[in-house]
Amino acid sequence: MEQDTIAAISTPLGEGAIAIVRLSGDEALAIANHVFSNKDLTQVDSHTIQYGTLVDPKTDEKVEEVMASVMKAPKTFTREDIVEINCHGGMVSVNRVLQLVLRYGARLAEPGEFTKRAFLNGRIDLSQAEAVMDLIRSKTDRAMSLALKQMDGRLSQLIRDLRQQLIETVAHVEVNIDYPEYDDVEEMTNELLKERARNVKSEVHTLLRTAKQGKILREGIGTAIIGKPNVGKSSLMNILAHDDKAIVTEVPGTTRDVIEEYVNVRGVPLRLIDTAGIRETEDIVEKIGVERSRQALQDADLILLVLNGNEPLTEEDRALFEAAKDLDSIAIVNKTDLDQQINMDEVREVAQGSPVITTSLIEEQGIDELEQAIADTFFDGEVDQGDLTYVSNVRHIQLLEQANEALDDALESLEMGMPLDLVQIDITRTWELLGEIIGEDVSESLIDQLFSQFCLGK
Ligand code: GDP
Ligand code: ZN
Repeated sequence: MEQDTIAAISTPLGEGAIAIVRLSGDEALAIANHVFSNKDLTQVDSHTIQYGTLVDPKTDEKVEEVMASVMKAPKTFTREDIVEINCHGGMVSVNRVLQLVLRYGARLAEPGEFTKRAFLNGRIDLSQAEAVMDLIRSKTDRAMSLALKQMDGRLSQLIRDLRQQLIETVAHVEVNIDYPEYDDVEEMTNELLKERARNVKSEVHTLLRTAKQGKILREGIGTAIIGKPNVGKSSLMNILAHDDKAIVTEVPGTTRDVIEEYVNVRGVPLRLIDTAGIRETEDIVEKIGVERSRQALQDADLILLVLNGNEPLTEEDRALFEAAKDLDSIAIVNKTDLDQQINMDEVREVAQGSPVITTSLIEEQGIDELEQAIADTFFDGEVDQGDLTYVSNVRHIQLLEQANEALDDALESLEMGMPLDLVQIDITRTWELLGEIIGEDVSESLIDQLFSQFCLGK
């Protein structure tokens, strides 16, 4: 298949000491060579790096000193010829390089078009392509390894196995219907079909169960630090965010820009909610009080409820426990370096089984225990990180839910004693839905829609 040659900046703009302009397509080598002096890039060995100068052939103007990586098809990401031009990082110079190759025959890539080509050329399947997108967006190490695992094709393999089971079942039913006289094939009975459908359903169910954790890994556990004024919320926040890996993102477009802060606690990504409020000056925090804490609760997966151990439990504290009662929470009795005025039995009673940790944030005591409690809350002690195939993509989750429903329909029909050729419609539907996850049987428009979500240059 003839493909025009696309080009884009494939490193983040404005970051890093080098920037890469990537070209992919039949003319990638010829175009790069046209603007490259010193060497004939069309003649060099594949997968080598060449030092040279970019020169505009029309004006003889020297544009940039660069390193060009030459990678010939098919052993490349897109399975097309690829040239990556490494140049100095500034916006201006990298743009000049891009403009130069666009002037001499390349076309600016659409967002995600490199990955789309990798998919269309059979280099990766759709779930792997989406993992590339997640990888670009993933904010923490753990989310990164999740995306890598998916890219590895684990999910794809599992889905393929399930589809195989379904298609064999369908084929079996068809043989029974079309060749009733054919005795060699075991008859597909209502019972047998039910068993097969249940098997697949239980696997789909497991995948859906992991989806919530997958989402959390990717987006972080929405964590709200709540408590009365002066109990130590800011101090806790600062200790958790102490790690250099904390990433701050601003989400514009709300009444006031919400600041989300990502911190890594033992590999568990926490997305600290509404930290802007907590980070404000103390005067403002005084005013924020319980009302603000209540708002933060609405967004949260995890509550860190801070108490002052230096004073007895108050009605305000109890109100906060009440507000948090349906959520995962950890109570933190702070200021243990001071006189203990709080009654721990009372605290445990209002905590209703949630972990209670004692800390002195000022002396950095109890932090390990707190971090352990956070990790335990999330992983429940039973999830084996290494083996699970997580589903973290919204589109995959929707498809799995639909597949789950189709299987329910099939099982219901079987219960009612419907003829197998009717049940088979639901089984086939399940097979199609699972196929969409790995990009088999998807319409062109869906593909376009998916790939347009990618960052430019990927
Ligand atoms: P917030 O109002 O809940 O955000 O509380 P802050 O973190 O701003 O802390 C209020 C005051 O308590 C500050 O003066 C802190 O230094 C102090 N503080 C925080 N944690 C401790 C602690 O563990 N022991 C003691 N003695 N003081 C603490
Ligand atoms: Zn504070």
